[in-house]
Amino acid sequence: MPLYAGVELGGTKCVCTLARGRDEVLEQVTVPTTSPDETLAAIEKALLEWHHNEPLQALGIGSFGPIDLNHGSSTYGSITTTPKAGWRGADVAGRLRRALRVPTGFDTDVNGAALAESRWGAGWGLHDLAYITVGTGVGVGVISDGKPVHGFSHPEVGHIRIARMPGDDWPGSCPFHGDCIEGLASGPAIKARLGVGHLRDFPPDHPVWETVAWALAQLCHTLVCTSAPSTILIGGGVVTGQPHLIPRTGELLVESLAGYMSLPTGGAYVQAPGLGAQAGPLGSIALAMDAAG
Ligand code: ZN
Repeated sequence: MPLYAGVELGGTKCVCTLARGRDEVLEQVTVPTTSPDETLAAIEKALLEWHHNEPLQALGIGSFGPIDLNHGSSTYGSITTTPKAGWRGADVAGRLRRALRVPTGFDTDVNGAALAESRWGAGWGLHDLAYITVGTGVGVGVISDGKPVHGFSHPEVGHIRIARMPGDDWPGSCPFHGDCIEGLASGPAIKARLGVGHLRDFPPDHPVWETVAWALAQLCHTLVCTSAPSTILIGGGVVTGQPHLIPRTGELLVESLAGYMSLPTGGAYVQAPGLGAQAGPLGSIALAMDAAG
């Protein structure tokens, strides 16, 4: 069985995974995300150690974004307009590919996670789905016909603008768009709206969650109308901490669609991911397997 390595590059930590597939994860190493030089050097060291023990077939990288996925671009494989200090322009895929000299798959962390969910998780057997993660940001991966959706770049569905909840005129917190989805439903947005440092003390019946479910339902409405995914999975720290958001988002989605489109699985259309915290790391392995061809 060929050996693959994956890197999930996150905003606070990176998970390197050595695996022969979904069922045979051999080792995982976590590296804190600090400066690009320090973090990428630590990742490179872990990958090279594995590669020297037994040659890797391919490498997969699922990265926080935005990232350059245009193969014709001189900055392909790098991080682009991130506000994350020091990472703007950081060459991720090029550096690791040069170090290992194996086929290297590169995509967003959420496209990777969506791919893993479609192969091994809650979307098993489906050729299309959408995966939403709601945490420090709102990321969306879309799989269509078994592949992550790309155009001139990767989609940034977490930044769409929506119809606002009646009576809610809070301006939102996205530095680019104000009240886009990320500006309304991410962890930092909810904290900014409430003027608090953490969300632990806000019970499920606190009115703020209705505004979050509303925003997520509007996001799902757009996904349904643009790519008609067979299911929508919602994970990430905010939703894991408030699991009632999933059924409520599903209800508000049905209301918002107003009977115009009927969903394939009715009330269970919006559901939790199946791979939990392993969706991202296994996503990088799925990207490696696809890069190997
Ligand atoms: Zn935005």
